[in-house]
This record gives sequence, C-alpha cells and structure tokens, in this order.
Amino acid sequence: MTASQVSPAMPPLSGSVAAPHRSVTVVIPVLNEATGLDPLLARLLPVLNGLGVDWSIIFVDDGSTDGTLAKLRQLNDADPRIGAIALSRNFGKEIAVAAGLRYATGDGVVIMDSDLQHPPETIATFVEKWREGHDVIYGERADRSADSAWRRGGARIFYRVFHVLSGTELQQNSCDFRLLSRRAVDAINRIGERVRYNNGLFAWIGYPAIGIPFEMPPRPSGEASRWLPLKLARLAFDGLASFSTVPLRLSSVTGVIVSLIAFVYMIWIITKTLMFGDTVRGYPTLLVAVLFFSGVQLIFLGVIGEYLGRVYEEVKARPLFLVREELGVSTTLPNSSKTVAP
Ligand code: UDP
Ligand code: MG
Repeated sequence: MTASQVSPAMPPLSGSVAAPHRSVTVVIPVLNEATGLDPLLARLLPVLNGLGVDWSIIFVDDGSTDGTLAKLRQLNDADPRIGAIALSRNFGKEIAVAAGLRYATGDGVVIMDSDLQHPPETIATFVEKWREGHDVIYGERADRSADSAWRRGGARIFYRVFHVLSGTELQQNSCDFRLLSRRAVDAINRIGERVRYNNGLFAWIGYPAIGIPFEMPPRPSGEASRWLPLKLARLAFDGLASFSTVPLRLSSVTGVIVSLIAFVYMIWIITKTLMFGDTVRGYPTLLVAVLFFSGVQLIFLGVIGEYLGRVYEEVKARPLFLVREELGVSTTLPNSSKTVAP
C-alpha cells in the first residue's frame, strides 16, 4: 500500500524510494533529423539494452519538413518500443518536450536532443542516480567552450537575473538533457502553462535534484544552432516573464523615482525664476525630458503589453499542442488533442 492510496489528494511521501524503477522512456524532440536518427539509435540502443530495465523511446516530430516522419514510421514498424508522435506543425522544442512527457509511460523519463550533443552513454549514470532516490538528474555541461563567448556570458547573466527576480534558482549550466522520476513527470504534466520555460519548471518543482557533468561535443559540423540570438533573447524574456512579475513592478518604481526627481527639479526652477526672473531658456532640456520620458512610458507600456499578451494566451486555453499522428503510443492526459488529421 502506497501513501497515495491512503489519501488520493496527497502525493506519496517518499515516492522516490517506494516508487518502482522498472522502466525508462526516452523522449527525443526532432526537427528535420531524417539522417541523424540512425547514428543516434546506433549509440542509444546499446546503452538502453545495458540498463537492465524495460525501455521505450518516444520521438516527437516537431513539424519536420524532410523525411523524418517516414523514417519514424519505419523505425516503429521494426521495433514497437520505438514510438513517436508527430505534432501538427512546428511548436518549438519546449512544447515538443512537454508533448513527449504527456505520452511517456516509464517510471523514469529521459529527455535528450537528437543531434548526439547529449551523449547517450551518460544515461547509465542518470539511471544509477535515479535508483539512489533522486527525482531530477540533469546533465551539467562541464565545458561550454563549444558555445560562443557571448552565449556563455549571456547565460551567466541570465541565471543571476533570473534568480534575483523570480526566487527560483536555475540549475547552473544545466541543459535539457535529464532524467525525471515519475512523480517529477507527473508534476510537470500538471503544469498547463502555454508559454513554457522548461528549465525554470524543472527547477520550480523542487524535488531532489542532482547534476551530472558531461562533455558536450560541438554540434555536427556545418550545422548552426537553431537557437538564433533573437530566439534566445525571446526565450530568456519568456522565462523571466513566466516566473516573475518584477518587470511590471519596475514601472512603478521608475515612476516614483522620476516623479521625485521632477519634484526637486520643479522646486529648483521656481526658486531660480523667483530669484533671477524668467529667462526663457532650457528649451533643449525640455525637449530631452519630454522625449526621454515618453520613451520610458512606451517601454513600460510594452512590458505591460507582454504580460497582458501572456494572460490572453492563457485564458484562450488552447491545447498546448496538436497531434497529427501517433505511432505506437497514446495518452489520456488533457491538453493534447488526439489525432486530428489523418
Ligand atoms: N528541436 C525541435 N523543435 C525546434 C527546434 C529544435 O524539436 O523548433 C529539437 C532538435 O531536433 C534537437 C533539439 O531540439 O533534437 C535541439 O535542437 P538544436 O540542436 O538545434 O539546439 P541546441 O543544440 O542549440 O540546443
Ligand atoms: Mg544541438
């Protein structure tokens, strides 16, 4: 008898100890990786076979336009343990991962990239730590030299700002390569947010977590990251905005400071005019002040707009993703629309 049977409303008290460790599902988002799947499986399958647990793989085809889906059908025909879902279009990696987690049935779920930047051999260590009772085992990038300097510096600043603004401490240098226990996956699946920042969510659920350093090989030659700077900045703001309302509060703080300065300046002008008379100067000052503060106002209107947009996204309550095809997998969880188009 488990704790959850005693009281259905209460989560198991020591799920990681009592919970079974019998099966592992690997969730892999793929976008146009038709040629990358064979090399990936050539390294992944021996690792999975050596784990001593049942395993399954769920590929999430995130709207690929090459032969990825056809390849996935072949793989599923050859081995039913290799399942896949195809999303109706490109939803982005974060949502593709969320979709995979809804379909994953294993006692533990591994999330990894398809381009072999997440070495499959590390999964054996993940499983070891999982058996020791950790809920979230994340890959920690030992060496980030594969990334450009601006990206590393940007990440460092972002982690710090994120912690200060949201109170949630992100797992340093962590990437999406990780193993989640069943209760961690269930927790993530209960989060219905549409604008998702997975890294923040994994830290936010708060179950015992541990980082495992691994060497991240450079991305396959000739292939640029799909995370262009602008998209990365977008992700950073999405992350901040879904974990913190401090940017909203900044406008009030700025308003108070600016009003105070304006008040002091007003006293100064009045005193000066009374003492020396009105000399009709200061036109440039006036212009600069007007332009500056209209700029500030527009910026904060924009920030408010960003949050309003998020509220709008959430209240529309659209499904998080739509599934075009299920290959050997199914889910009963909400927020996913089952097979929409043939
Ligand atoms: N990916 C995806 N949807 C996207 C972009 C990427 O499913 O819109 C997948 C991609 O197939 C890969 C993983 O996400 O498995 C990471 O992508 P990539 O290697 O381009 O990113 P990076 O290594 O820079 O994180
Ligand atoms: Mg990559």
